Amino acid sequence: MKFGGTSVADGASVSRVVDIVESCHSAGNEVAVVVSAQRGVTDQLITMATELANNTDSSGIEPFINSLRIRHGKVLLESAEDYADEVGILVEEQLCNLENILNAVHNLRELTPRSRDYIITFGERLNSLVVSAAFRQRGIPSETLDGCEAGIVTTPNHGEAMALPQSEEKIQKRVLPLLADSVPVIMGFMGCTDKGVVTTLGRSGSDYSAAIIGAALDADEILIWTDVDGIMTSDPRLIPDARVIPSISYLEVMELSYFGAKVMHPRSIEPAMNKNIIVRVKNTFNPDHPGTTIVRGERRDTRVVKALTYIEKVAMVNICGAQMIGRPGVAKAIFSQLADRDVNVMMISQGSSEANITLVVEESQEETAREALSALVRQGMVRQVTTNRDVCAVAVVGSGMAGAKGTGGRIFTALGNGGINVMMISQGSSEVNISFVVRQEDGPRAVRILHDEFHLSEEDDE
Ligand code: ADP
Ligand code: ASP
Ligand code: MG
Repeated sequence: MKFGGTSVADGASVSRVVDIVESCHSAGNEVAVVVSAQRGVTDQLITMATELANNTDSSGIEPFINSLRIRHGKVLLESAEDYADEVGILVEEQLCNLENILNAVHNLRELTPRSRDYIITFGERLNSLVVSAAFRQRGIPSETLDGCEAGIVTTPNHGEAMALPQSEEKIQKRVLPLLADSVPVIMGFMGCTDKGVVTTLGRSGSDYSAAIIGAALDADEILIWTDVDGIMTSDPRLIPDARVIPSISYLEVMELSYFGAKVMHPRSIEPAMNKNIIVRVKNTFNPDHPGTTIVRGERRDTRVVKALTYIEKVAMVNICGAQMIGRPGVAKAIFSQLADRDVNVMMISQGSSEANITLVVEESQEETAREALSALVRQGMVRQVTTNRDVCAVAVVGSGMAGAKGTGGRIFTALGNGGINVMMISQGSSEVNISFVVRQEDGPRAVRILHDEFHLSEEDDE
C-alpha cells in the first residue's frame, strides 16, 4: 500500500491511514507500506536547495528547518503520542543532517545532481518516521526502511533513476521476513546505485517504489491510496464533472500518466504488468468507494474514449528542409543528436512529403534540443529548426479506439467546431492513444470539448 502526501497531512489523516492498514492486516493479510513526503515538502526542498546554491543569503535555512520540525512534530504528537519523545529524537537527527547539507550547499554554492537527490529525499525520511510511529501507537509492530535498505537498486541517473533487476532478490531478502509480524514503512521516491549512492525515481516516484516492491514481493495487489476516488476521466481540477473510471488497462494508464495525468508515475505500471498484479487506486478519505482497478484488460470496452489528459510544459520542435526528402539517415541523425543530449522526445510526426519532422519535448529541454539540432543545420542536412513554447499536448486515451472507425474524425471535427486549431497530431500504433498539440491557451477548452463529445461524465451503461 502506498500513501501519498495528502493522505498524511495531519493527525486525523494519518489515523485514517492506520485504520486502513489495520483492518487489512488484522484480516490476516501481510502488508508493506510505502509513504511519500507530506504534501509540498519535496517542492520546498527543491526550491530551498536551488536557492542556496545560487544565493549569497542563507538566512532561510533556519526557518525552513523549523517549519519542518513543527509540521512533523504536530502530526507525530497527534498520531503517536506515546512515541513522541523517542521518535522526536530521530526526527531531530534527520533535521540536523538536512541542515548540515543545506549549509554545505550554500558554502560551496554548488548543487550537484547527487547532492540534490540526497536532499530531496528528506520529505520521505521525516514522514516515514511519523507514520511508522502511528502504527506502533495502535499496537502494530513497525520499522522504517529507506528505499536503499529496502533493496531498490537503481541506475545512476539522478532525478530519474530506474530500478535494476537485482532489486527483486534484495527486496525479497530484506522485506519479506518483516511481513509475518510487522508492517514495515518504506520511504518512497528513492533507491540507491549498487555503490550505495542515493538516487530518486522522478517526481511522484513513490508510486513507482510501491510497484517495484509489490512486484518483487509477488503481492496479490498493489494499492495506491490518494485523495481522489480513483483514476478519473480527466483531471478533476480542470473538469469538475470528471468521473471515476471503474476499470482501466495497464496500457491506458501508462498513456495517461505519460501525458501528464498526475494520478500515477508513468513507470509505476511496468513492474505490476510484468507480473500481472492488479493495481488499485483508492481514496484514503473514502475507503469504501471501490476506486479504480488497473488490469491487463482483455475485455473489449464499450467505451471508445476513456480518459483525457493534457500536459502544459512542452515545446514543439519543427525541423524542415527540402534536402530531407528521400534522404536516408536524417531521422537517425536527428534522434541520435537528441539522445546524446538526453532529450526525451514525447511525440513525433512526419509529413508524407518528408520535408518536415515535428517533435514534442519537455519545455525545460527546448533549448538543449534546439542546440543539438543546430549541428544538423550547419552540416546542411536540414534547413531550419524552429521551436514553439506556447503550446500544450492533449492525449485522448482508450483501448476501444483500436478498430473503432471515425474516432479521429470525431475528435478533430469537435475541436474544429470549437474553433481550436490543431498544430500537430500523433497516433501510436497501439491505437490506445491519439495525441495532438494546440496553443497553450486552448488546452483546457480542448479537453472540455472532448470530454463532452465523448460523454465522459455519464455513467457506464454496463
Ligand atoms: P498523491 O499525493 O496521493 O500522490 P497526487 O497529487 O500526486 O497525489 O495525485 C492525485 C491528484 O492527481 C488528484 O488530487 C487529482 O487532482 C490529480 N489528477 C490529475 N489527473 C487525474 C486523473 N485523470 N484522475 C484522477 N486524479 C487526477
Ligand atoms: N515526494 C515525491 C514528490 O513530491 C514523491 C512522491 O510524492 O511520490 O515528487
Ligand atoms: Mg503522486
